Formats: sequence, C-alpha cells, structure tokens
Amino acid sequence: MKLYNIKENDEQVSFGQAVRQGLGRNQGLFFPSELPTFSDVDALLEEDFVSRSSKILSALIGDELSEEQVLELVGNAFQFPAPIKSVKEGVYALELFHGPTLAFKDFGGRFMAQSLAAVTDGGKITILTATSGDTGAAVAHAFYGMEDINVVILYPKGKISRLQEQLFCTLGKNIHTVSINSDFDACQSLVKQAFDDQALREEIGLNSANSINISRLMAQICYYFEAAAQMSKAERENLVISVPSGNFGNLTAGLLAKALGLPVKRFIATTNVNDTVPRYLETGKWEPKPTIATTSNAMDVSQPNNWPRIEELCRIKGWGLDTLGKGVVTDEQSAESVKELNDLGYLCEPHGAIAYRSLNEQLQDGETGLFLCTAHPAKFKEVVDDILGTDIEVPAPLAKHAVMENLSEELNADFEALKAVLRKAQK
Ligand SMILES: *Cc1c(COP(=O)(O)O)cnc(C)c1O
Repeated sequence: MKLYNIKENDEQVSFGQAVRQGLGRNQGLFFPSELPTFSDVDALLEEDFVSRSSKILSALIGDELSEEQVLELVGNAFQFPAPIKSVKEGVYALELFHGPTLAFKDFGGRFMAQSLAAVTDGGKITILTATSGDTGAAVAHAFYGMEDINVVILYPKGKISRLQEQLFCTLGKNIHTVSINSDFDACQSLVKQAFDDQALREEIGLNSANSINISRLMAQICYYFEAAAQMSKAERENLVISVPSGNFGNLTAGLLAKALGLPVKRFIATTNVNDTVPRYLETGKWEPKPTIATTSNAMDVSQPNNWPRIEELCRIKGWGLDTLGKGVVTDEQSAESVKELNDLGYLCEPHGAIAYRSLNEQLQDGETGLFLCTAHPAKFKEVVDDILGTDIEVPAPLAKHAVMENLSEELNADFEALKAVLRKAQK
C-alpha cells in the first residue's frame, strides 16, 4: 500500500510507515495512492464479518502483510459484532458499541494497536492522542499492557462525562492520562505542536492514535459493509446513511467504503451546533467558530481534522460536495429525538439520536435509512436519564471502572509542560 501526504504530495509512505508516523510533513494527512474496487460486492457481502473485513483490508494493505497476517489482526481486533436493529419501517440503527469500551472507536483503536504491533521496527513508541471522550477509552484499552508502547492521552478537563473519564483514567501501567484546562480543540492543537517538533518526535517515537491514523479509518470501512450485509439486496440498493460527526473520521470511512464499491446512495453529514462542515457545504466558506459544549460532547469539534481527506476523496472520485447531505441538530432537538426513539422502543443516546433526526427529516420514499449509533446509551447515562427520567443500567465494564482511582494529571494548555509529561512517560 502506498500513501501520499495530502499537503506535500511528494512525501510517499508505505502502510507500515503511515501507521507508525500518523501524520506526514507539515501536519499533512496520508491518503491511499490507489483504492482497490470490489466488482462483486454481493459475493463479498455473503461472507462473515471477520473474513470479509480481512479481504477488504488485505486488498487495501497489499503485499506488505500476508493475507494470513491480516486475518489474524482482524480476528484479534474485531471480537464483537456490529448488528443493525430495525427502529421503524425502512429505518435501521447500526450499533457500533458492543466492544470493550462501548463505543465505535473500539474498532479503529483495536485494529490500530494490532497493526502497529505488526509493523513496528523495534524502536520506542509513544502514542499521543487527544480525546473528547471515546477515543481515549478505546485507545487506552486497545494498547493497555503492550510492551514498549507508551500511551499519553489528553482530554479537556470537565468536558467529558465522569463515567467516560473513569473508563480510561484508571488503568495505569503504560497508559498516562492528562486533563487539560481548556477545550478539545486546544488538546488537538497541543498534539499537532508535538508532531511539529521534529526533535521530540524522534526522541520519543511519537505516534498519534487519533482518527488521523489511517489504520483506524481503514478498520471503520468494514462495518459499513457489515451493515449492508445484514440487509436485503433491495434495501441496500437505496441506502442513505446518516453519520453523527465530530472529527469526520467516521464519515471518511463511509465514503471510502463507497469508493471500494459499497452501494450507498447518499451520506448525510450530521453535526451538533458545532457545524463548521454543514455551514461550509452551504456557503463554501470554511469558518470555524469557538467550540460550544453540547450533550453530544464527542462531537464538540469545530476544526475537524479529517475533512481534507473527504475533499481529496471527492476530488479523486469526481463526487461533487453538493452530493453530500448535511444536518445540524441542537441539544433540544436531540433530546426530542431520544424521546421519539424511546417511544419507538429503541433506547439511544444523543449522538445516535442526532444522526437519526436528520435521517428521518431527509429520507425519501423508497429509500432505506441507516443511522450510526456510535456509543452505548449508558456511556451518556447522565444525559439520557435526564431526558427520559429513567435510571438506565450501567454495563459491567463501566461500573467496574466507576469506582477505581482516577490517575490523571492536570495541566494547562502549555506545550512545554506537555513535553515534560511526555519525557516522564518514558521512564
Ligand atoms: C468520536 C465520536 C463521534 C464522532 O466521530 P468522528 O469520526 O470524529 O466524526 C460520534 N459519536 C461518538 C459517540 C464518538 O465517540
């Protein structure tokens, strides 16, 4: 697999390099030079999740890893299902929260950990990542206890739910967590600064586990195929998919699935009021505003770092950006949709409900709708209980971590202070 840097096209890397490096020069994102296409998608959809996924990923990775190796990585990473549930006539929820940290980021995080271990050149590795909640947990659990890999996770203090925080800040060992006195964008910009510091980068073998890392996106392609595989051929021919978006990794993966041959009629890019992308699609102007805290806080991102990949893919495929649907959902509206879904007999948290809302508004006759449920309702228990007046059950993995000691350090959004933490993590 060859990939190039979107910003500096002459920088070309292998899959292994892209996974180890995360970002290219000048903070450029890597993008595949060639995308395979599957001519017989129907046959592919007949296969089970793990073998189909390893075929897709093997076709992307090429001969850098053998098919057997890829099958083993996928088998280790995807040890939980991605079922679709019928919510009402013609509308399905894709449940991506059956992994160990109950959010879709388990797919990407676990495949990345497996890939990195497979392509390591034996040097030091420090994973530095910023999280608005779910990435941190997924990455921490995916890398926990791995030898020679240190993980440093930054998150905005007080801006993620307590249950979420407990899930990844209580592990210890090779997992170091830092609460930053600022918002998610500040965390993300600290990560970028660290990547810009070439000397530091080499000294500690810096690597990002953000959705910046191509391996995470590659893993996420697979569950779009898995959703289609659970539908009838007639249903999936007119498929419209609504993706609750923050950093836009999930939507990038969906569009990549389409580029590989998955028939998807339309995608809807849905955000909360942090609506940089929907406004851009409307006006053609990229005008990020300060990030606003919402009840769907994993989507509180105003400078989504995967967007350039979507533009690149659309440019290559000749897909006009105007073919992309868009939706913006406020907290009040998402609460309404959580209630509406509950009345339909489906318990959903705000991120999934946001995707449902714009899908429901925009779905036309004869189309099949799919909205992505990116987190287990219990991960957003406070919000869901508040909306529904319930006391929903907390699954065992969350309950266990809720009572453990929080091991995080607290830091201002200051790069020098972060450097000290990164160096200390080496010891
Ligand atoms: C990360 C996350 C999102 C946003 O996904 P992106 O790939 O960053 O667009 C949505 N919902 C939940 C629950 C998340 O954790």
